[in-house]
Amino acid sequence: MAVPGQQRLVVISVSPQSRASLAARFQLNPTDTARKLTAFFKKLGAHYVFDTAFSRSFSLLESQREFVRRFRGQADSKQALPVLTSACPGWICYAEKTHGSLIIPHLSTARSPQQVMGSLVKDFFAQQQRLSADKIYHVTVMPCYDKKLEASRPDFFSQEHQTRDVDCVITTGEVFKLLHEEGVSLSALEPAPLDSLCSSTSAQEPTSHRGGGSGGYLEHVFRHAAWELFGVHVTEVTYRPLRNKDFQEVTLEREGRVLLHFAMAYGFRNIQNLVQKLKRGRCPYHYVEVMACPAGCLNGGGQLKAPDTAGKELLQDVERLYGMVRTEAPEDTPGVRELYGRWLQGEGSERASRLLHTSYHAVEKASSNLSIRW
Ligand code: SF4
Repeated sequence: MAVPGQQRLVVISVSPQSRASLAARFQLNPTDTARKLTAFFKKLGAHYVFDTAFSRSFSLLESQREFVRRFRGQADSKQALPVLTSACPGWICYAEKTHGSLIIPHLSTARSPQQVMGSLVKDFFAQQQRLSADKIYHVTVMPCYDKKLEASRPDFFSQEHQTRDVDCVITTGEVFKLLHEEGVSLSALEPAPLDSLCSSTSAQEPTSHRGGGSGGYLEHVFRHAAWELFGVHVTEVTYRPLRNKDFQEVTLEREGRVLLHFAMAYGFRNIQNLVQKLKRGRCPYHYVEVMACPAGCLNGGGQLKAPDTAGKELLQDVERLYGMVRTEAPEDTPGVRELYGRWLQGEGSERASRLLHTSYHAVEKASSNLSIRW
């Protein structure tokens, strides 16, 4: 995996969703898959292989704080709520192109796990390695093609170093193709230890977060908000399906009064429904986890298909493997507290805002040629 004409440090960040898809294909457990993938990438010349579950901890923590702040400030701004998640670039593209001015004020500004990883690698890790950001070539392994679009957004390009936070995105299917081209079976590889971004912690095994295969945004923000805003410790989050299993809601109630009203809307059918509610000013939710793919990221367009297994059966297997990984609360992830202090100069700092948040832009509709009068 040489970068033509340049000596650069090659860093690969693997998403937990891609790992689960490969685990299902090779009939491995997720930990072995992570270690064997590390061995494969290192054989190809990568210097470090990281897990984007680490960067997701920052994305979740920033989402939690942002929601509480916007909930508390809702009286000041009509557009503060609902907060809509923004980690799915398929949804963001649609929102910016189709309903920019309506939706953008509602989008969470927290960067997605991929783009937080971009900041971690090109800023924190580059400093650790005493390299400028352009001397690192950062590749991510993701469950969909839309992540390529996300990485190429101008917001994630450093003018100073003339480099992107994520230089190249490959899908799970493209990793599979690469294995095939190299004549390598993942199962046959000797496992290699996982790398850790933070020198004070050692990544012995992959970790994950509770709340489903799309990152668990709803669940983490809900639990945190229930405690922070109402002093309620939520032991179990109960989802109530609405029109279909991809549109569900969660409520926190006290004495018959709804305190928090959250929803998940997956797939464009449900997204359009949500947008209609927003347009009519009849969206009852405080927070919505929005994902473009039906069934969410484990079912992303870049994940592996199995010719001889029914789609539903394969997805269940991928979900089972994804759920096997030990979960931890984002605030308990080793290294996260340390980096908030050492790298970001504290929670809520200007640095945290610059490196862990982003902004969105309505795409002007090109005027139709037909309207031009000659
Ligand atoms: S829901 Fe689909 S398009 Fe969106 S981030 Fe997940 S895999 Fe990608």
